Amino acid sequence: MNLLAQLEQIVGTAHLEVGGHPGLTDMRGAYRGQVQAIVSPGSTEEVAAVVRACVSHQAPVVVQGGNTGLMGAATPDDSGRSVLLLLSRLNRIRALDAENDTITVEAGCILQSVQQAAEDAGRLFPLSLGAEGSCTIGGNLGTNAGGTEVLRYGNARDLTLGLEVVTAEGKVWHGLRGLRKDNTGYDLRDLFIGSEGTLGIITAATLKLYPRPVRFYTALLAFSAIQHAVDFLSEARRCWAAALTGFEVMAGPALVQVAEMLSAQGMPEAPQAGYWYALVEVSEYGVSGQLEGAFEQVLGENLENGLLTDVWIAQNEEQRHAWWHLREQRISEAQRLVPGTIKHDVSLPVSAIPAFISAMEQKTAAAFPGARMVGFGHLGDGNLHYNISPPADADAGSFAACKSAIQHLVHETIHAHGGSVSAEHGIGLAKRDMLARYKQPVELELMRRIKMALDPLNMLNPGKVLPAWSEPGTSIFPGTKESS
Ligand SMILES: Cc1cc2nc3c(=O)[nH]c(=O)nc-3n(C[C@H](O)[C@H](O)[C@H](O)COP(=O)(O)OP(=O)(O)OC[C@H]3O[C@@H](n4cnc5c(N)ncnc54)[C@H](O)[C@@H]3O)c2cc1C
Repeated sequence: MNLLAQLEQIVGTAHLEVGGHPGLTDMRGAYRGQVQAIVSPGSTEEVAAVVRACVSHQAPVVVQGGNTGLMGAATPDDSGRSVLLLLSRLNRIRALDAENDTITVEAGCILQSVQQAAEDAGRLFPLSLGAEGSCTIGGNLGTNAGGTEVLRYGNARDLTLGLEVVTAEGKVWHGLRGLRKDNTGYDLRDLFIGSEGTLGIITAATLKLYPRPVRFYTALLAFSAIQHAVDFLSEARRCWAAALTGFEVMAGPALVQVAEMLSAQGMPEAPQAGYWYALVEVSEYGVSGQLEGAFEQVLGENLENGLLTDVWIAQNEEQRHAWWHLREQRISEAQRLVPGTIKHDVSLPVSAIPAFISAMEQKTAAAFPGARMVGFGHLGDGNLHYNISPPADADAGSFAACKSAIQHLVHETIHAHGGSVSAEHGIGLAKRDMLARYKQPVELELMRRIKMALDPLNMLNPGKVLPAWSEPGTSIFPGTKESS
């Protein structure tokens, strides 16, 4: 039987498509692929059967969730040989165990619906990011997503206790354990998380839940230098400990750009290009109400001693939401309106951030005079979105021609300061070729061996993360037969 007929038999005519589909292009429009078929299985067993059928026809499988990833990792190549696997029908909340503080969800669940299910049970699922209305748990785990609450709760990996995975041979690993302690050998779960669909297909996950904070205290802070923001973060950690849930930084020029391109609405005053701003939030879990006093006291003391240049405390929920909206949406919206803005998702030890920024300021001024650093990011996690817009009077075309030189400069400087060239967005296609430069040969060799062990026929999302080193469907172990 040919592949399409086999797939139709597995998922039914209504869930098999051929031809065009929005999922063939990534959300930034940078990558476009072609496929033999687009399938939407309705159960884990159907996913496994689809994978087995694809393997027998040597058709690579590209799994896609909400298609909000930023590295081209969910876009099939243009060979037309792949099958695009959509998990939107795997969208059930399977169980919520309030006593164990866990929720078990299928991989196609939209992140926001998982947050809502937790809220309905009086709990918190703390993964939170700008794309939460359309990204899926499968994609969050596939990319080990971070977001705005990593400082307090960790990234997607830290929030996961168990997985159900369809392997590259189409077998099902039932690993949905809700255990916080389980030292029974190699941690398979951690291999699949962050593997961007190249090692297995996550069909469900058991995730950690937390108590819901009863109150938030939020402030917008201004600093005259990034070193002051880093020093204050250290102080905030010392004084507020686990109550500190967010510490997001925004470069002055990024807010000036928002004011110019959109409006300064919601900002307490006109932003200054020479400042750094931070959105800081603490959460209170008990009923004591004591945190408010501690919050204001620490801010007051550090305003007095000059570490903080200015402080605005959110007066109500509306103001708090407006500031988060500024950080999570409006900065990116403004940058989309400036053609030629070059984006980077990088991380550093927090202590190395001031030296990195200072080195970059000098190098950028020398090589690309007038270029504006419009960075922002999760300072508490050492994660910067170190974006650079063209000089105000430059034409976007000539600046775009410098894109690879600027990216190279940023990544070399990051590497020299002990950082990572991908903090939370992954590797996909966009950063694949950088790995050879920034990973040690032994790391790359181990990664390649893991791929060979889990996907010996190179059927899952070939060419992503690691460069393809064999044709899909061809065994990478000499002497091993292809499955049929
Ligand atoms: C506005 C916006 C804000 C963002 N903010 C953040 C942020 O703060 N932090 C952050 O980390 N990221 C952020 N991102 C990017 C982030 O990676 C994605 O939003 C999200 O985690 C990807 O989920 P998705 O369902 O869209 O995955 P997709 O884009 O569909 O896929 C991403 C990768 O995961 C793989 N994958 C998908 N489903 C599965 C599965 N079931 N099993 C195995 N692999 C799978 C795909 O093959 C692909 O390699 C943002 C993106 C946008 C557009």
